Amino acid sequence: MIRRIISKVFGRKRPASGTGERILPRAEHGISRNGIDDCALKVCETLAGAGYKAYVVGGAVRDLLLGIPPKDFDVATDATPEEVRRLFRRSRIIGRRFQIVHVMCGRETIEVTTFRANGQKESEDEDERPTDEHGRLLSDNVFGSMADDAARRDFTINALYYDPAREEVHDYFGGVDDCKKRVLRMIGDPETRYREDPVRMLRAARFAAKLDFRIDEATRAPVARLAPLLANIPRARIFDEALKLLLSGHALRGVHQLRAEGLHHGMLPLLDTILDDPAGERFITAALKSTDARIQSDRPSSPAFLFATLLWPQVLKRWQALEAAGEKPQPALFQAMDDVLDAQRNQLAIPRRYDGMMKEIWALQPRFAQRGGQRPYRLLEHPRFRAAYDFLLLRCEAGEVDAELGDWWTRFQDADEAERAGLLLADSGPKPRRKRRRRKPGEASGGEAQPA
Ligand code: ATP
Ligand code: MG
Repeated sequence: MIRRIISKVFGRKRPASGTGERILPRAEHGISRNGIDDCALKVCETLAGAGYKAYVVGGAVRDLLLGIPPKDFDVATDATPEEVRRLFRRSRIIGRRFQIVHVMCGRETIEVTTFRANGQKESEDEDERPTDEHGRLLSDNVFGSMADDAARRDFTINALYYDPAREEVHDYFGGVDDCKKRVLRMIGDPETRYREDPVRMLRAARFAAKLDFRIDEATRAPVARLAPLLANIPRARIFDEALKLLLSGHALRGVHQLRAEGLHHGMLPLLDTILDDPAGERFITAALKSTDARIQSDRPSSPAFLFATLLWPQVLKRWQALEAAGEKPQPALFQAMDDVLDAQRNQLAIPRRYDGMMKEIWALQPRFAQRGGQRPYRLLEHPRFRAAYDFLLLRCEAGEVDAELGDWWTRFQDADEAERAGLLLADSGPKPRRKRRRRKPGEASGGEAQPA
């Protein structure tokens, strides 16, 4: 009871029990200080100089152990957010419920987090953490010890702390061994941890795909049963996680991993329809492979383009259905785009800011079929030409349109003026610029491209 009052007053919990901290010297883990980004090193040095503990933590340590260049560097410390902020001129506290400090350094930002506990349940009466009726944690903003901080993390490989001053790794749950064995293992009781935060199921699929790790059996087993809990998670958070998976550089593997674990219903429900249809599967496979290749070679990849590809099989199907029902090609395509975007709002919650670019990419597709007169020149100048052309190539690769069309556009772009003139087709698409005249009611429109 007294302890509970103390913990309430000071906002600290006892260290989680059952953690066996191991401190590994450089010879055992192999991570050199040189692998740590200068900014993160500086933040750690400044904190340590002021008498605080400071470690590089999480994904960066894991990736360095595995020889993968880290995406970003996070620092964990026993200094409070306010204390951190006072130490760095260019820093600010963000978040209200769970505060972290962003320390700016050149063009970089290092995220500094104070050790936190949402801790292990140590006895029935001590557990006061607010949860919903499924066990989901509703608050997690209690400072704690470093051991607490390790225990509230998700997987053993994500709970490693690197001390740059001593070049030592602090490992509480055998994360270094799991890295060596290439196993993804949940810290604590997997079912409880998934109930606390169902998004951890999606993270399991993402890390297994990204790192090509096996998911430990006890960690994997509850997922199929608990996957429906994702329905209680705010759509925006699911969307963020979907984006991380799709932009991880291993989206193709990730998407198949999701489906194998039955998790896609909660994240990308459209995968079922896409992957059950051979044409859809060919298209998405081509799209994800190309995104993965771009990301792996550090080329930019836009979320809007990616979501345009994911939704395309549905747009195409709807477009064809509307045309079969007698709608003209262009209005049918626009109607199909709107129908599909409306339908996904409830499922996937793609933010509206991506709608414009997705629609442009789709709406330009029929224009690639028009290869006579001035039209190809005008299309080349369209600001979205490049994205739409990349999209066309995926359609060719998937066999949805003739590969010859993609090849033609590849040649046309690179050709000089004389070659371009020679490439123009006289009889394709609508005739170049007729004088506009009012169409009589019931008269057919020009030869807009048809969906294949
Ligand atoms: P990535 O390289 O994909 O960024 P990461 O491990 O850095 O991988 P983040 O989502 O950036 O992943 O999270 C940083 C760290 O915070 C994780 O390594 C993990 O320790 C902890 N963490 C993040 N999300 C959760 C969660 N839902 N439950 C528990 N711990 C989490
Ligand atoms: Mg990270």
